[in-house]
Amino acid sequence: MNNSRFLWLPVTLVLLGAAAVVAATAGKPQLTVMRVGSRALIEGPAANFTGKATIDRQVRPDASQRTMGSLVSFEPGARTAWHTHPLGQTLIVTSGCGWVQVEGGKKEEIRPGDVIWTPANVRHWHGAQPDSTLAHYAIAESLNGSAAQWMEKVTDETYGPKDVTCKTPKT
Ligand code: MN
Repeated sequence: MNNSRFLWLPVTLVLLGAAAVVAATAGKPQLTVMRVGSRALIEGPAANFTGKATIDRQVRPDASQRTMGSLVSFEPGARTAWHTHPLGQTLIVTSGCGWVQVEGGKKEEIRPGDVIWTPANVRHWHGAQPDSTLAHYAIAESLNGSAAQWMEKVTDETYGPKDVTCKTPKT
């Protein structure tokens, strides 16, 4: 009768399989609607920004995702500190007028519709021009839980408040 216990093996496997199916169908996939106006806006931390920048974290990775995406809105004169991204970053400008600069390069004017790719580990900053607001989406993948490495502030000398290049309309 020792063999009888082996007869239970396939029966047990079938029961376990059925239980797994029931469990899988019981937890229906859920989508998440994060309503406009209901998301908590983050003020850009003073350690990483000069001036006022407001961050709406629209793409929020969980443990299974790495892509982070935020709409960042800068007041006139506001900008990020120098920083790098471990896997690069895409900026998509949605309003206003600003600058982006790679270390050692010249300030580039950026306007709505412009898309800027910064490669991995390249030092740069971005922000509004002195008399314009700027808003851009910022999309980056995180590596080991971090999507940016923050460094020193951009000095007024580097920022160059008199270097305005934005033409009308000044928004
Ligand atoms: Mn950046």
